[in-house]
Amino acid sequence: MSTTLSAPPLGLLLEDIVRRHRPRQNAGSVPTNIPFLATVPFDRFGIAVATTSGEVFSSGDAGVPFSIQSISKVFTLAMALQGGRSAGLWSRVLREPSGTSFNSLVQLEAEKGIPRNPFINAGALVVTDHLLEETPDAATQLLRFLTEQAGSPGPFIDEAAAAGELDSSSRNLALAHFLKDFGNLTRPAAVVVENYVRQCSIMMTCVQLAKAGLFLANNGQGTSGTVLSPSETKRIGSIMLTCGMYDAAGEFAYRVGLPGKSGVGGGILVIVPGRCSICVWSPRLDAKGNSLAGTAALADLSDRTGWSVF
Ligand code: GLU
Repeated sequence: MSTTLSAPPLGLLLEDIVRRHRPRQNAGSVPTNIPFLATVPFDRFGIAVATTSGEVFSSGDAGVPFSIQSISKVFTLAMALQGGRSAGLWSRVLREPSGTSFNSLVQLEAEKGIPRNPFINAGALVVTDHLLEETPDAATQLLRFLTEQAGSPGPFIDEAAAAGELDSSSRNLALAHFLKDFGNLTRPAAVVVENYVRQCSIMMTCVQLAKAGLFLANNGQGTSGTVLSPSETKRIGSIMLTCGMYDAAGEFAYRVGLPGKSGVGGGILVIVPGRCSICVWSPRLDAKGNSLAGTAALADLSDRTGWSVF
């Protein structure tokens, strides 16, 4: 795959990215509501690139499973849009950046139970509720979807991590109860939150996630066939660009110039339309909840390759 003329071959470039960006000191933070995440060593750093021509390049800890957390929201949205299943969804959740934290109760109350977008927690709870119309276990469905797209077994739900998060899920439960009160949740709040937390607790490696996200860079074509139409795929990319990085979507677009979705486990999935899907992971987060080293690495990679949607 060609990059800019001055860039080294991709494998060497990724090795250099790991050398430059692997954290040398324990800077940044971990979320307080998910005890498991505090146990992950601060100096983990992995990166993988899966190309639309079928190649995979990786470096660093790209084979170490990590908690995908909110990156799951991209894939639950894709599942909800598959095969015309989206009927009714877009009257329950909007597609605007939230401009507030991803788990804001105030905004949901002020906006009468209609979440700003599917990538904040309230929006993802609505998407999960939508999926639960067809299956009692949306988390296991998501796991199957991710395993199929990754092309090999490996992803798993870390049930212990999920149980740990469920013990301190008061805020997500509050969001679900607000949604219910406004008539925007069909299933019981506790059922939706449990499914949502188990989705977030799926463990995957950078290589697996880059491969699983490839359909988003490839007009909706995944490892084993069509996942979404080109137009639905474009729309998910648009929501990633505008809403995928918590309250730092503008800053991320400025620095990286690509649609992305991050999770508080320190992973970021990024799409280069027509070219590749990239997953970077490093567990310590900036003040907005995005991987510190991961964001810096992606800014560096996009500058050195010229990959950008702009
Ligand atoms: N499970 C996390 C929560 O609901 C996900 C947060 C995230 O990655 O944005 O708080």
